[in-house]
Amino acid sequence: MKFRYQCSECGAFFDLDPALNTCPDCRKNQKENEPLRGVLEVRLEGDLPSSGNLSYNMLPVPREFFPSLPDVTGKLWQPARLRKEMELPRLFIMNDGSNPTGSFKDRASVLVSAYAKQCGIDSIVLASTGNAGSSMSGIGAAADQKIVLFLPETAPPAKLIQALQYNATLYKVAGNYDMAYELSLEYSEQYGGMNRNTAWNPMTMEGKKTISLDIFSQLGEKAPDRVIVPTGDACILGGVYKGFKDLLQYGLIKKMPKITAVQAEGSSALYRAWQKGSFDLQSSRTVADSISVDIPRNGYTALRYLKKFNGDVITVTDEQIIEAQAHLSCGSGLFTEPAGAAAWAGLRKMHHTIDKDETVVVLATGSGLKDTATALKGVKMPGRSIHNIQDIRG
Ligand SMILES: *Cc1c(COP(=O)(O)O)cnc(C)c1O
Repeated sequence: MKFRYQCSECGAFFDLDPALNTCPDCRKNQKENEPLRGVLEVRLEGDLPSSGNLSYNMLPVPREFFPSLPDVTGKLWQPARLRKEMELPRLFIMNDGSNPTGSFKDRASVLVSAYAKQCGIDSIVLASTGNAGSSMSGIGAAADQKIVLFLPETAPPAKLIQALQYNATLYKVAGNYDMAYELSLEYSEQYGGMNRNTAWNPMTMEGKKTISLDIFSQLGEKAPDRVIVPTGDACILGGVYKGFKDLLQYGLIKKMPKITAVQAEGSSALYRAWQKGSFDLQSSRTVADSISVDIPRNGYTALRYLKKFNGDVITVTDEQIIEAQAHLSCGSGLFTEPAGAAAWAGLRKMHHTIDKDETVVVLATGSGLKDTATALKGVKMPGRSIHNIQDIRG
């Protein structure tokens, strides 16, 4: 197998190179306050090995460079009560909260870690709303790599603390995620290291494609009819499409599933661009911190995929997200963080429009324990403590 980069805008090919991030030609058209220009995608060429692990076979870095961790695979749940309630007997939830650091981001982090190792680079720099940072820090700890992290000071404390547990160098940014993104790019330019910023580093979308390969494997080598994806920067969305596209390329599936991206109403840049055809800038504000972004970095790639494969983008309110989080917990035993619950809120909003025999996969992208302050909004903490059994009155 051979792997090359191809520019998602102009189609130019490049050899893999750690110094290459976005396409040098298309980058010249980059304007302020818009998604990244010239995002590079990995193209697979040649025959797929007939034996071995599908994910490792389809990834551009040999397995020997991956950190010593259990494989990041996520698990498909078959929630009996919710299947009944939603009247969708072929409903599945993909839980990435059980990944090594508790979020979907591990899929990108392990590939970036492996690529840095292969290239002999021992430090990795990134900006994050929280999960990418705690993920890269944990994966980097396993791989003995130095991690430098830029996080908004408003990130949920658990995510900051998790990164510090892994001994990352942490810069709290007095601003939002978009500011952290710019600062981390400046940092890696000045001080070196591989930059893992989402969509900027081509290995992020490529790593995230393993979600589709895992869904395919766990469904018995079949594609689902529909996948529902929580969306901020739209790198997960791009990764979902990329994985199924590679499966199509090798004839392992026959058609692209229908993909629905779900955004928070208060952070809906991709939704607005999907409606209007162009991106505008509005400040984001949502309880789902992991999908709170002003500029979706992978926005152009995502729009191209959505158009080509007939996808859709919808929004849900913060109230719906908080309700959906508790609903999913109660109905299935799966406690996911607010961003993960956004996809579940999306399904609840649209489940009447879905055919009963469709195989539907909803992504639950991070553990609920990552942000308990928001989860508390959806439940009621007992007001007073009891001292003895008499304090309990029927
Ligand atoms: C990062 C993240 C998302 C959104 O992914 P994007 O690529 O930014 O769209 C969703 N859920 C969780 C838990 C995340 O950490």
